Amino acid sequence: MTAPRVRFAPSPTGSLHVGGARTALYNWLFARRHGGTFVLRIEDTDVERSRRELTDQILDAMTWLGLTWDEGPYFQSERSAIYLAAAGRLLAEGKAYRAFETAEELEAARKAGEAGGKVYRYSGAGRSLSREESDTRAAAGERFVLRLRMPDEPIVVQDAVQGRAEFLPEALDDFILVRSDGNPVYHFTVCVDDVEMGITHVIRGVDHLPNTPKHVALFRALGAEIPVFAHLGMILGPDGKKLSKRHGAAGAEEFRAAGFLPEALANFLALLGWSPGEDRERMSLEEMTALFSLERIGPSPSRFDHEKLTWLNGQLLQAVPPRRLLALLAPFGLPARDEGTLERAARLHLSRCRTLVEVSQSLRIYGDDPSEFEAAGLKKFGKPELMKSLRALASRLASVEPFAHAEMEEAARALATEAGVSLGALAQPARLALTGSLASPPLFEMIEVMGRETALRRMLAFADRIEGRTGAS
Ligand code: GLU
Repeated sequence: MTAPRVRFAPSPTGSLHVGGARTALYNWLFARRHGGTFVLRIEDTDVERSRRELTDQILDAMTWLGLTWDEGPYFQSERSAIYLAAAGRLLAEGKAYRAFETAEELEAARKAGEAGGKVYRYSGAGRSLSREESDTRAAAGERFVLRLRMPDEPIVVQDAVQGRAEFLPEALDDFILVRSDGNPVYHFTVCVDDVEMGITHVIRGVDHLPNTPKHVALFRALGAEIPVFAHLGMILGPDGKKLSKRHGAAGAEEFRAAGFLPEALANFLALLGWSPGEDRERMSLEEMTALFSLERIGPSPSRFDHEKLTWLNGQLLQAVPPRRLLALLAPFGLPARDEGTLERAARLHLSRCRTLVEVSQSLRIYGDDPSEFEAAGLKKFGKPELMKSLRALASRLASVEPFAHAEMEEAARALATEAGVSLGALAQPARLALTGSLASPPLFEMIEVMGRETALRRMLAFADRIEGRTGAS
């Protein structure tokens, strides 16, 4: 294959939805796989709904996912002259024509048609105007739209993913290319740009398939080669309906904020429709690139399984090198501890966490001393009669050398044996004193990371509190 040129063409009327992110990813993978070019085009012709900050968000989310573009971003809002020049050419060549019906006339025709039980189609009246008449009326200032002269034969779309689709001429009227206010319509700008940018493969959501016959007709009118189309199946929520906000997070930025890794989201999205074969599940962008092909994309809708994404994220999280992990955790908050301590803490807690948010939350115990204690834990272990052994444990930990978990555990076991209690009876109040809760990673490993001073201070403060020495209850 000669080097393909593909594009991702988001409309900045919303943030990057997972559907859009998957489209961007597939285009990116395809370009990388074949040594092609990935073009980014911002389709912001709808000035009312397009917002610059949404464009920025989309670019950010793409960068976060690792989907860097080779060309662009091009902004359609800056390309009007190109569209109007193309419109002028189509008009001069007779492939498009002016239509002078007013909005009221069209509305009346629509109503009449519908009353007769027919699907409304533009009558094509403008087709029969002579060039002279059309020019004269335009020159006289009469308002008009520009319409494409559609072929009177079926249009066949040979889609690389969805297969063959045939669209009958009855269903395709001479649609508007340029509105009476001079603004080009969306279908027109897409095709002019695709031609102008030399796009060879159009990979996008299946919701655009019904538009494709219009695009094919336009490509032909523009004298361009028809690109290969690949329409990706819909992404559904667990209830089988189109994925939306109702199903929880649906935007790339939301997953980022919820503590997902970019490589996990990319990996997960890649498998929504594409199957690499060999039952592969965990793959880096490089591995996906090596295997990617349009042939292995299925036409059916896929289900977005949050649980699977979370599982995958947890898996990939375990493999993140410590340095990068801390950098990733920083936006979620890290206790003010030295890097070495934070790295050891993260390593200790990681296996219990599935997202960066969970890791960040679990590392809070290395920050401020706990001021609140879980009620159920207090009820069970916050008893004055248990504080004697908590103090005894603290005193053993004060002198244990080296200050390492194996040695601490040995000292604690010896103490338990001497006192005739179980290790658990010593450990649970300590856990509560140190973290405010009874859920924690292995106690002595945690204490080792926390440090002697912090651990002793918390244990003694807790004992004071329970014994009422500080006046607190
Ligand atoms: N701007 C369109 C969208 O955001 C994409 C158009 C296309 O890919 O052809 O859905």
